[in-house]
Amino acid sequence: MTQVAHQMMLDGNAVAGLLQEVFGAEMTDQPACCAHCGRTSRIGAMQVYGQEMGKVLRCPYCEQVVMRLMERPDGVLLEMRGLQYVRLRQVE
Ligand SMILES: [Zn+2]
Repeated sequence: MTQVAHQMMLDGNAVAGLLQEVFGAEMTDQPACCAHCGRTSRIGAMQVYGQEMGKVLRCPYCEQVVMRLMERPDGVLLEMRGLQYVRLRQVE
């Protein structure tokens, strides 16, 4: 990974607000399983790259893309084909 890429890197907490809006729940503590390497990590531990337009989340183990978020005037686009699953806690 280049030095520039490291400087742009945030962690999953950087998208906490947007994910909460999409899922209606706090998501950073939820476990998600990478479809590339099969390992599970908290969404808050994932590597986030991006700017205002869109964000890319990468697996902290294999660095493959697991999720893409894009905010558009007509809504939020969420692509999650890099994940096997996200586990959601029961909402009381
Ligand atoms: Zn992975």
